[in-house]
Amino acid sequence: MTTKTKPKKTEKLTKVIIKKCHVCGALTESENEIERCAKCNKAFLPLKYFNKIHENQNTQFKDLFSSSEDITDEDLIKGIYVLW
Ligand SMILES: [Zn+2]
Repeated sequence: MTTKTKPKKTEKLTKVIIKKCHVCGALTESENEIERCAKCNKAFLPLKYFNKIHENQNTQFKDLFSSSEDITDEDLIKGIYVLW
């Protein structure tokens, strides 16, 4: 008999993407990938941009940005992004 008492419902926390701007260093938080720095307005590329443009050649650029739910730690660029 196994005793698994951990309730699954509490795991439904929303992940937040935190991104550091590589130009001005400002931190931006969002549930979706950040398209622009809120401070200096620098435009960012979506994560895994080069894979995505080869796989989705007919997709609009803005649709390449993912929700935090679709991103895992392996997708992130270390030092620039963190999932919280
Ligand atoms: Zn910036």
